[in-house]
Amino acid sequence: AVDFKWIRDNKEAVAVNIKNRNSNANLDLVLQLYDKLLNVQKEVERLRAERNIVANKMKGKLEHSERLKLIEEGKNIKERLVSLEEDLLKLTDELQQEAQCVPNMTHPDVPSGGVDCSAVRKVVGKPREFSFSIKDHVQLGEDLNLFDFDAAAEVSGSKFYYLKNEAVLLEMGLVNWAVSEVMKKGFTPLTTPEIVRSSVVEKCGFQPRGTNTQVYSIKGTDQCLIGTAEIPVGGIHMDSILAESSLPLKYVAYSHCFRTEAGAAGAATRGLYRVHQFSKVEMFILCRPEESDSFHEKLIGIEEDLFSSLGLHFKTIDMATEDLGAPAYRKFDIEAWMPGLGRYGEISSASNCTDYQSRRLGIRYRPESLSLSNSKKGKLGNASQTQFVHTLNATACAVPRMIVCLLENYQQEDGSVVIPEPLRPFMGGLQIIAPK
Ligand code: AMP
Repeated sequence: AVDFKWIRDNKEAVAVNIKNRNSNANLDLVLQLYDKLLNVQKEVERLRAERNIVANKMKGKLEHSERLKLIEEGKNIKERLVSLEEDLLKLTDELQQEAQCVPNMTHPDVPSGGVDCSAVRKVVGKPREFSFSIKDHVQLGEDLNLFDFDAAAEVSGSKFYYLKNEAVLLEMGLVNWAVSEVMKKGFTPLTTPEIVRSSVVEKCGFQPRGTNTQVYSIKGTDQCLIGTAEIPVGGIHMDSILAESSLPLKYVAYSHCFRTEAGAAGAATRGLYRVHQFSKVEMFILCRPEESDSFHEKLIGIEEDLFSSLGLHFKTIDMATEDLGAPAYRKFDIEAWMPGLGRYGEISSASNCTDYQSRRLGIRYRPESLSLSNSKKGKLGNASQTQFVHTLNATACAVPRMIVCLLENYQQEDGSVVIPEPLRPFMGGLQIIAPK
């Protein structure tokens, strides 16, 4: 659960953090609702105690008039309790919704400010120089018969696509390659449900409600389509206490992702760059709190190795405070050079969410030292002797943007596209996509 007491005790630091991240969280309202909730809870407890006293008195020998008075009192208490319990549910829901907007605290090294303040951590390779006039991925796809945007627009709407011919092999090859490479690092492979409960989406720090939401909700149900596998993977260990010896848990999940892309417009939406549905391979780690910074470095290292092995030119960026989603304590993005688009484009993102998601999802672990002392005493211990794990997520391969990068970077003068060596075994040995 969200630690409202901590938020109240640290309200100055929380307010500064909200401002630095340009978040729309309403801290005053959160604190007001929290106070109200505590007061109502107290009143409910007081009334429950009073109800017990009345019930006990009723057990004794009583005058008729006294009994009638107690019955009346009991009825009044019950009515007030029913109404207060309703208030409690409403307040809890309101508070949870407001608390959704309160962002995670921020790593002290994160640069403060807007996207221009983000800091480049690393640059790999340099832009390829072309001796011929180049095409963008949309043109390449059209000439090589790899996509159909027009039919997709008719069938589904804008920002959908059919992949055809070698592009299908490329999508499947990329997924298989990414999962295989990440499995070599000891990650457990998963495929996930792609429809999940809205409550799980919320607990992962995404907002399924409201008008500007990125989340597709299914009308008439309490379910949503996932925007990323981070949500179902985060949910796997929901409401559980893990053994410390089982940590870290490292998953690599393949799923489709669905996004409304509310508010997205302009040239960056051309072709495959920003679409409503795409395939993605996502890494997810649950670990002890003291290890999350170092796992964050490991995750960005894996991403850098993957993209280097495909020969891409990219930079790794420590994202500034205003560019962090609510759950992230720190976020490293990778932007790769896309020659046809003539600019860098984000291809991956790695976030350390510390205990932001685990608190909401209820994922704890029991430190060994406590388990040992408990077993000596022959007790199982309780939740207060546990700690929340830290969660991290990172993109191994978001397929459409990889296709953009590969087509645009590996195009040849004759209009063909060379497949980078590491992908070939995953594409039946295909070396080149040639015009038919
Ligand atoms: P995110 O989960 O928002 O950090 O996104 C992870 C990665 O998915 C990004 O780095 C992009 O490569 C890719 N991505 C995000 N949104 C879209 C989209 N609408 N269309 C295609 N790729 C996307």
